[in-house]
Amino acid sequence: MAAGKKNVRASARKAETGDVLPGADEARAAFEPALAPELERPRAFLKTMRHEPPQLLHLEGGEASSRVALALWWAALLNCELNDDEPCLACSSCLRLGAAMHPDLFLLDGRAASIKIDEVRALRPVLGEKPHFGRRRVIVLAEAQALGVEAANSLLKVLEDPSPDTCFVFTAPQRERLLPTLVSRGWVITLPWPPAGRPLSEAMQFWEQALARFASEGRGWFDLTQARNALDAASAQQITLVGQKALADCLAGRNAGPLSALMRPLPEHLLIELSDLFVECQDALQFQVNPLLTLDVMAVGLHRIVHACARGSLPA
Ligand SMILES: [Zn+2]
Repeated sequence: MAAGKKNVRASARKAETGDVLPGADEARAAFEPALAPELERPRAFLKTMRHEPPQLLHLEGGEASSRVALALWWAALLNCELNDDEPCLACSSCLRLGAAMHPDLFLLDGRAASIKIDEVRALRPVLGEKPHFGRRRVIVLAEAQALGVEAANSLLKVLEDPSPDTCFVFTAPQRERLLPTLVSRGWVITLPWPPAGRPLSEAMQFWEQALARFASEGRGWFDLTQARNALDAASAQQITLVGQKALADCLAGRNAGPLSALMRPLPEHLLIELSDLFVECQDALQFQVNPLLTLDVMAVGLHRIVHACARGSLPA
């Protein structure tokens, strides 16, 4: 349950004992998604805020990997030992931040499981102290939509106590996924959304083909999800986005993958049903419904909707 907390503490301890510095390659890889050219504006915006950083910053939009990497980049910008206007990504502070082994970095990661109230409570005593190593303590709540209501309320209390050397960063796909009281307290930076026409990653192409096959032939899906019983909520979210992307491609008349080809003959009311289905599945994942179950519901819904249209006119 407290795996996140354990990780945070283990990281801090390792760094404090002055052991081996993490490798530059490892740190670079962690920052890499934040250095993409399309994130130039968000980076420029963060630079303007570096001398008076807000207590709470929200990073929304883009992709989870970019949001989390940008949160680490922000921590590096605030704590770099060599540069003031751009993190060098090579000094010991930057390297430790990139490897999440910095004593003043607290990374509560909601990507694999929801952020627990115990993890939030564990922050409280730390906040009264000065940062140990750097100038600013940075607390990242990665994919904070996976924050239980209790944990969110506990966090609100934490935010009420002033801790001038501490900056919080929340990352989430959309600010609407967070408690309004949390959003209203912070700055929001919106990362550019991934371009709709962009090809899917290899892993997601695999899932798109599997979904398209099940939607048209009604087989092959359950064996696949049974075999992937370790699939986490973040990966399941990605797979629901595959469905949404196919729908967007279909509506835009783009010649995309097999899934959007299946959607093309559908009348408007069925396309709306599809859109609702994807949103419902995403909401279910937010509320911690079993990821495999959610994906199975999505696949069955997709099959039903595709076959609600005249069977004969569908592409094979
Ligand atoms: Zn540096």
